[in-house]
Amino acid sequence: MFQAATAPEDIAVKVESVSKVFTQWQRNEEKSGRKDHSEKKIVHLFRQDKKTVSALDNVSFQIRKGEFVAYAGPNGAGKSTTMKLLSGILQPTEGTISVLGMSPEKDRIALMKKLGVLFGNRTELWWDHPVMQSFEWKKVVWDIPDTLYKRNLDMVTELLDIGEIRNTFARELSLGQRMRADLAMMLLHSPELILLDEPTLGLDVVAKRQMIDFLKKINQEEGVTILVTSHDMDDLEEMARRILMISKGKLAFDGSFDGLRDITGNLTHFIVTTDGRELQLEGCRLLSENRGVFEFEVDLSGLPVKVLLERLSKADGIMDVEIRKAPIEQVIAQIYQTWAEP
Ligand code: ADP
Ligand code: MG
Repeated sequence: MFQAATAPEDIAVKVESVSKVFTQWQRNEEKSGRKDHSEKKIVHLFRQDKKTVSALDNVSFQIRKGEFVAYAGPNGAGKSTTMKLLSGILQPTEGTISVLGMSPEKDRIALMKKLGVLFGNRTELWWDHPVMQSFEWKKVVWDIPDTLYKRNLDMVTELLDIGEIRNTFARELSLGQRMRADLAMMLLHSPELILLDEPTLGLDVVAKRQMIDFLKKINQEEGVTILVTSHDMDDLEEMARRILMISKGKLAFDGSFDGLRDITGNLTHFIVTTDGRELQLEGCRLLSENRGVFEFEVDLSGLPVKVLLERLSKADGIMDVEIRKAPIEQVIAQIYQTWAEP
């Protein structure tokens, strides 16, 4: 995609031809097929097999300061690996990475002062202490000036509504509360760029809403650059303007959500339950049928929801209708299919 030239100081993240190969050791257990029948014991032989996994394959992209970018892909696509490379936890096998003008590998300590990282499945909070104690600890260790600390603490307390849980022990928090507390702590040192890996995973609707609203706010009002991963495209579309889509370690798409829809259509699944009656709907593809439960696929860019609902309202015996976005795997399959076409 064409992008206007950007001055180096306006670039937050630059990933150039990056590949990451992991070596996985697999222990195969083989029950021995030896012909020695006198041996009663089953002989176990272990073999170590080396397998290499290409988690990222020649990936390049840039993120400008102030952007809010979604990094989407199915499980195992390479999202977490990318986040770990950007934060210096891992090093690339090939290619170069620059984050806020620094090398995550060589300038890790200097970079950490400007970076905020949150892995949804991990916590930085002290488990057996009140939340506030972790915050105070961070202030000391990171040497955050009093005025800045106070300003940020007030801001996150208000925006993330954590006044009530500041004195609660981390281990007693719900997942939603824990995520808010972790987010709050991450922001105490005023990071310029934040990397969030699956922050909405496992959250209920209310907690998700709070998180999404908060991230939009700090992006717009504080100018924080955000890169967020998820395997749930609906969550990402609510937050970000631009989407990078990764599949099996390769970048499959970089552009707007509308641009993505231009290629893939607006694929939607809907499930209709009838009182047992048969159902056919014009313009919709029947994917499955099971005892009065019909799953259809439709491209809403070709058939507006209104028309679809009108057709449904004219059908008899309908008990329930549920609409779902097509799964991310299918969107990616669609992109690859478009590429394959001449
Ligand atoms: P995602 O976050 O998109 O679900 P990951 O980046 O975690 O995907 O993983 C991408 C691929 O790299 C997977 O095939 C995974 O098994 C492999 N992988 C990730 N981390 C390691 C590791 N430390 N050692 C070996 N293989 C790994
Ligand atoms: Mg992951």
